[in-house]
Amino acid sequence: MRGVVLKSRDVSQARGAADYVRYLATHDALTGLPNRSLMLDRIAQATARAHRDHLHVAVLAIDIDRFRMVNETLGHAAGDTLLRQVSERLRQATRDIDTVARVAGDLFVVLLPAVEAPGLAGKVAERILADLRRPFGASDSELHVSVSIGMSLYPQDATGAEDLLKYADAALHAAKIDGSGDYRHFRPRIDRELRERMALEGGLRRAAERGELVLHYQPKVDLATHRVRGAEALVRWRYPELGLVQPSRFIPLAEETGLIMSLGEWVLRAACTQLRGWRDAGLELNVSVNVSARQFQQANLVERIVEVLDQTGVDPGWLEIELTESSVIEDAERAIASLRKLKEHGVRVAIDDFGTAYSSLSYLKRLPLDVLKIDQSFVQGVTGDHDSAAIVKAIIGLARSLGIEVIAEGVELQGDVDFLSAWGCNQAQGFYFGRPVPSDDFRRLFGASL
Ligand code: C2E
Ligand code: MG
Ligand code: MG
Repeated sequence: MRGVVLKSRDVSQARGAADYVRYLATHDALTGLPNRSLMLDRIAQATARAHRDHLHVAVLAIDIDRFRMVNETLGHAAGDTLLRQVSERLRQATRDIDTVARVAGDLFVVLLPAVEAPGLAGKVAERILADLRRPFGASDSELHVSVSIGMSLYPQDATGAEDLLKYADAALHAAKIDGSGDYRHFRPRIDRELRERMALEGGLRRAAERGELVLHYQPKVDLATHRVRGAEALVRWRYPELGLVQPSRFIPLAEETGLIMSLGEWVLRAACTQLRGWRDAGLELNVSVNVSARQFQQANLVERIVEVLDQTGVDPGWLEIELTESSVIEDAERAIASLRKLKEHGVRVAIDDFGTAYSSLSYLKRLPLDVLKIDQSFVQGVTGDHDSAAIVKAIIGLARSLGIEVIAEGVELQGDVDFLSAWGCNQAQGFYFGRPVPSDDFRRLFGASL
């Protein structure tokens, strides 16, 4: 008798353990929500049923914006608490038949298994966005977060569970790229763009070491003498499959991914090495290098620049750093401090694309600048458009009253040159005088007019 009891207890224990193991294998320990593998099962079941009942299935991938910052600034315990609270709120925002899962870090997935019309899924996404915008935590330590959502639909976008999840995730990435806090529905274009982006990012990571980066140089011409005074170094990427890629296609990506730090360092070193070579050959010119906003925020940027100058034997006064107006006004106080340091070392500083970012004149006076570069969008209008002409005249006047040089960018026509000369602009740069070209061509074409 005793043996039988024991035996049955063994069985029930065994069943309990097996259930528990299965539970662990299909749920997330932190939130108790289904995990990725259970979510995939549920999606597969839902699509089978929806096929039969002529319904739609929606898969929503939801990610907390800047979650890493919560972890880093408030600690992992606070991060965990937030994840639990988000999972709770997602459960409240959905119906019983819906499934909420946590599939990775701060990535949640909501499955809507029976959607009558595709538009209704968007409504749910909007409700979730709104629900999660309400603050989290106790009243004395309120935490505001936002989420981004990507959505895929069965049967429009895909029929397999893996694909639906993958496409929701792709749409989520697209939502993040567009700016956080919103939702995006999957489109085939998103998939293609994301693939391209990933290929580009992978390639860019190795571009410098594979020798695929090159600098082109565009002349900067003195408008009084028409002699070349300097060159702007502009980076290009020889990407095997795409040919010569222009910076507008990869600089933003490099900024987003942080690759701009190493890329910027490569550009600076290559430009300084070239400059040293030209100076050794008797060419009296300056070279300017573009520094992106993100690089400019780097704490030790000035030290890095000085180090490269030392190593390449370049006189600081031969180098000009170009910063866009927007990157300077983003954090004006810090910018002023960095620029002062650069100045102390004797490096020249130019504000690029001037006129596009509404900087206030009061602190422009406090910036230790050597050059203002008038944005090409104004320069290209000077002969036809009254507003552009007025802006260009005003910038020239402003630069003169501050005692700094002014360069017009994007000069393409004789008429532009005449206008700029008449109004006292110091230098010009543009296709009229020369396009950006490789260093050998630069010397061949412009060496004599230096
Ligand atoms: P930017 O610094 O304002 O450079 C001027 C851009 O205008 C260059 O484009 C140049 O080729 C183009 N340009 C010059 N003259 C004319 C003209 O007469 N007409 C027209 N339509 N365009 C003209 P590019 O080389 O494609 O560079 C675009 C931007 O990419 C640069 O604008 C700069 O912001 C960024 N960039 C380029 N090289 C680097 C780099 O090494 N580092 C960083 N951080 N950014 C770079
Ligand atoms: Mg520039
Ligand atoms: Mg510019």
